[in-house]
Amino acid sequence: MRGYDCDGELLLRIRQLRQQILRRDNWRCESCGTMLNLEVHHSEFRSHSGSDSEENLATLCAACHARVHRR
Ligand SMILES: [Zn+2]
Ligand SMILES: [Zn+2]
Repeated sequence: MRGYDCDGELLLRIRQLRQQILRRDNWRCESCGTMLNLEVHHSEFRSHSGSDSEENLATLCAACHARVHRR
């Protein structure tokens, strides 16, 4: 199933929001709570709208992020 896309140009746009998201999530992985190796994951839920909004971005550590994309 597709629905996740954090590659390419999207990352450039996310970079602007990255700091904002990390701060919002208190610099912790939303999945396991670690504060190490944090990345910002972009997830698209049901709609295609608001793909750049904060609601579609989540703080995940590298390990949890990789797990999400392997599904
Ligand atoms: Zn994690
Ligand atoms: Zn991702």
